Amino acid sequence: MRIVSGMRPTGRLHLGHYFGVLRNFLKLQEEGNRCFYFVADWHALTTSYKNSEELKKNTEHMMRMWLGVGLSPKKSTLFIQSLVKEHSELSLLLSMITPKSWLEWNPTYKDLKYNLLRISELSKELKERVGESLKNFLPSLNLKVHKPQKFQEFMLEKFTSSLIDALFEGLIEGETLRELNTSKKQYYEIDTFGFLGYPVLQTADIIVYKGEGVPVGEDQLPHIELSREIVRRFNRLYGKTFPEPRAILTESPKLLGFDGRKMSKSYKNAIYLDEEEESLRKKVMAFFTDPQKLRRGDPGRPNLCPVFSYHRLLTPKEKTLQIEEDCKKGILGCVDCKKIFLNSLKNFLEPIKERYERVSPSYAWEVFKEGSLKAREVAGKTLEEVREKMNLP
Ligand code: SF4
Repeated sequence: MRIVSGMRPTGRLHLGHYFGVLRNFLKLQEEGNRCFYFVADWHALTTSYKNSEELKKNTEHMMRMWLGVGLSPKKSTLFIQSLVKEHSELSLLLSMITPKSWLEWNPTYKDLKYNLLRISELSKELKERVGESLKNFLPSLNLKVHKPQKFQEFMLEKFTSSLIDALFEGLIEGETLRELNTSKKQYYEIDTFGFLGYPVLQTADIIVYKGEGVPVGEDQLPHIELSREIVRRFNRLYGKTFPEPRAILTESPKLLGFDGRKMSKSYKNAIYLDEEEESLRKKVMAFFTDPQKLRRGDPGRPNLCPVFSYHRLLTPKEKTLQIEEDCKKGILGCVDCKKIFLNSLKNFLEPIKERYERVSPSYAWEVFKEGSLKAREVAGKTLEEVREKMNLP
């Protein structure tokens, strides 16, 4: 089966990336599928176009880490999205046939719009309240104001947007905003054409290789459905050209960070695949456990403990069963349990780190550039067919 999937290079890779994505990449590769795996640098720009100075560094890290975990250029086509221009050409052509409403109904976009609406409602509310206070406050400053109305509007705007920023920074909070995900401070910044249209680019990424299977988590299903819709429309308009890609639902355990929240770079709670030994120890020892288990003698609830979810993934099965039993009986203390966890983690991470360090940046670039040329050959053939079907020269 032809498998296509990409990952956005947005920073160092952590355990969540490994167990959520890379483990599946490896499995599909080893099962003998024809896999096209790409570093989705264009997709990274949809949300972080303002920080593009990190993009090359992140791409390099991702390439080295992919090779470090065992993805092989002999078995899979490994490449960089922006080096295969055919993705963008196909994306442009697909954008001609994709109704705008399909994109506006995409849950990620709807979510963004909803949050923007809430923020603008809040701004309005704040402006009204702050406006009253400013009327009284400004005369007390004893300043010579040239254009009072304009000055007041200026101050109001600045003050309100500072309040919103303070909210995103977690410096203040308000009842009305609890429902917003305040870790996403770029809400304003990603209301762009690129963000709205990224499912079209995503579709092009898949079908330019006539991809049949796309490994995804459940949250990605609406995107695959949208890709299938676009493919159906294309095939209807111009004749059967593309297979409808299928989602390959992959098991991706929701890994928790050491603070008990979802593991994420933005929460600063992640364990990186190239984590230094000392910081690894500190993070493991700081891990949340079952809050009811305060001391060794207390019986614990391993099913509710983030540390135990890692034992399931990393500690040998027999030992994990023993930990479960001893925790429930209260024989095992959390500190000792974390020491076993640390050991399992080291055994898992050390070979990855070793291989990662052995992959020089220049070798990684060489492999991925070569992979990009191979990808272009396949993508180029698809584009020839597409141009012909759409009556382009
Ligand atoms: S003993 Fe281990 S599994 Fe049990 S609560 Fe403590 S850390 Fe979690």
